[in-house]
Amino acid sequence: MTETHSTAARGDSGPETARLVASRVLDVPDFPQPGVLFKDLMPLFADGKVFREVVDGIVAYHGRDGFDVVVGIEARGFVVAAAVAYAAGVGVVPVRKAGKLPRVAHSISYALEYGEATLEVHEDAFTAGHRALVVDDVLATGGTAEATLDLVERAGGTVTGFTVLLELGFLGGRERLAPRSVHALLTV
Ligand code: AMP
Repeated sequence: MTETHSTAARGDSGPETARLVASRVLDVPDFPQPGVLFKDLMPLFADGKVFREVVDGIVAYHGRDGFDVVVGIEARGFVVAAAVAYAAGVGVVPVRKAGKLPRVAHSISYALEYGEATLEVHEDAFTAGHRALVVDDVLATGGTAEATLDLVERAGGTVTGFTVLLELGFLGGRERLAPRSVHALLTV
């Protein structure tokens, strides 16, 4: 494992925040499969001071009154979503992998490199017009995010923002999600 160091860290909340995130990411080569450089944000989650700063920064970026609910994508997105929701005094909605939710759910399937994945959200998760801030740890190709944003809107929520801690810029997720905007604290 090597730490991600960058002297010219960049992100949508400025270089200082980008550097802070970069200082708490570990690069894990060939996980979960050969050829993938896994961005492990557990060190950021484990550092109380940095985690709080990052979460407060996300709330400040969107404005404390800028969203009514926070949506987290399974599983690492749950960590970010719950903290942001708590900091802003709003609720949290989990978007889960297929078959995990106990009640009637909307579902959406999307293509992976090999095969397909399905995400679900409870049918009654959103009050009509509720402004949803969607969060996840990493934006890669954007397939997961695109499916989640569509799912939220299908379930009656209004997507007001999408934040990730780290964006793999070279994979084109941001372009895929356009014209929706992406807020990434660190872009590599
Ligand atoms: P994608 O749909 O390609 O944008 O992949 C995004 C989802 O997969 C997120 O939920 C991430 O947690 C996870 N992910 C994809 N690539 C990586 C990576 N290199 N490091 C860590 N997580 C990743």
